[in-house]
Amino acid sequence: MEETMSRIVAKFGGTSVADLDRIRAVAARVKREYDAGHEIAVVVSAMAGVTNDLVDLTRAAHSMHDAREYDVVVSTGEQVTAGLLAICLQEQGIPARSWLGWQVPVRTSDAHAKARIEKIETEEMERRLSDGQVCVLAGFQGIGPDNRITTLGRGGSDTTAVALAAALNADRCDIYTDVDGVYTSDPRIVTRARKLDKITYEEMLEMASLGAKVLQTRSVELAMNHGVPVQVLSSFEDAIGSDLPGTLVVDEEDIVEQEIVSGVTYSRDEAKITLMRVADRPGVAAAIFGPLADANVNVDMIVQNVSEDGTRTDMTFTVTRGDLDRAIEILEARKDELGFTDLVPDADVVKVSVVGVGMRSHAGVAQRMFSSLAERGINIQVISTSEIKISVLIAEEFTELALRALHTVYGLDAA
Ligand code: ASP
Ligand code: MG
Repeated sequence: MEETMSRIVAKFGGTSVADLDRIRAVAARVKREYDAGHEIAVVVSAMAGVTNDLVDLTRAAHSMHDAREYDVVVSTGEQVTAGLLAICLQEQGIPARSWLGWQVPVRTSDAHAKARIEKIETEEMERRLSDGQVCVLAGFQGIGPDNRITTLGRGGSDTTAVALAAALNADRCDIYTDVDGVYTSDPRIVTRARKLDKITYEEMLEMASLGAKVLQTRSVELAMNHGVPVQVLSSFEDAIGSDLPGTLVVDEEDIVEQEIVSGVTYSRDEAKITLMRVADRPGVAAAIFGPLADANVNVDMIVQNVSEDGTRTDMTFTVTRGDLDRAIEILEARKDELGFTDLVPDADVVKVSVVGVGMRSHAGVAQRMFSSLAERGINIQVISTSEIKISVLIAEEFTELALRALHTVYGLDAA
């Protein structure tokens, strides 16, 4: 338990505020933190499922709806939970008020449905916090330069919370969610996965973009850029954030014993495309990936093989499963221009990655991954690396086997 008074931003996700009983439980949680003498601002998501329903409504109204009106509709879920939480706090004797994004204001870019927070004007909130009040802010929303309501992209209330913590210069941003922290791997598959006490911003960023859905990627970027310590913790357990029961996302220097590999993650949202025998000459990669980029199809891993005769080569790359059909369509339409003989798609693949800042200073990390997969007869189809991660694409049927093997080989198994 911390001795001194801290300023904390606590964010509660959709499942934590799914109904009135849970909102009351959140209020009780906030009260304990408040009674311990901390200043606390709370960011809430919409009740679980509500945002999905609102998105469906806008689609049903018109498939080509105006993004500004979409924001007006989908931002309303958070208005309900912010108001209800303020009422529940008041009912427990705590002075509290709610804010919508525009009231603060939370100023954002004008990219409706995926706006970025530019500035949060916190003077009034600061005054109230030092006055012993609890501030409740509706997550996921802001106001654009055109004075219209914006939203931050799905999962955006994590970003609201971190941005508020940065603006308020808070000591910590606690993200209460339906898991009790960040794990070395997916505990549903790797039964010996462990909860990490700490993880670096960079590792969290890789893990978030590699498929671990704990935090919105943008929120981790913001936390890293502003040095906001973020804690991921369960909203269904009893401990409060100041007991530090979850996983802290922090700077590398705040971690004393750094493992070489901190996590083994996977993403099934992958599909592989091989173009057979494309011309091996300058401009071909640009001709393939340019039209895909123009159509907003993100290409992730790429390998180009050496050609036998110096004129033709195979090109393999991955896209998300949702983009596969579109990618095929775009490429088939350019078959003559690109000159490939066949397009071979494969959606039964999974990307398995190991992540760890320790890789920078240790050799042989990739070798261990490759040989442990080889020992189990798992063929690696594509490899990609960054400074702190190695990803391989393998057949989907080997997902469990690969995750467990790698978890063991890097010494991550719980005792
Ligand atoms: N309610 C929004 C969503 O479902 C924002 C959030 O929960 O973070 O995406
Ligand atoms: Mg979320």
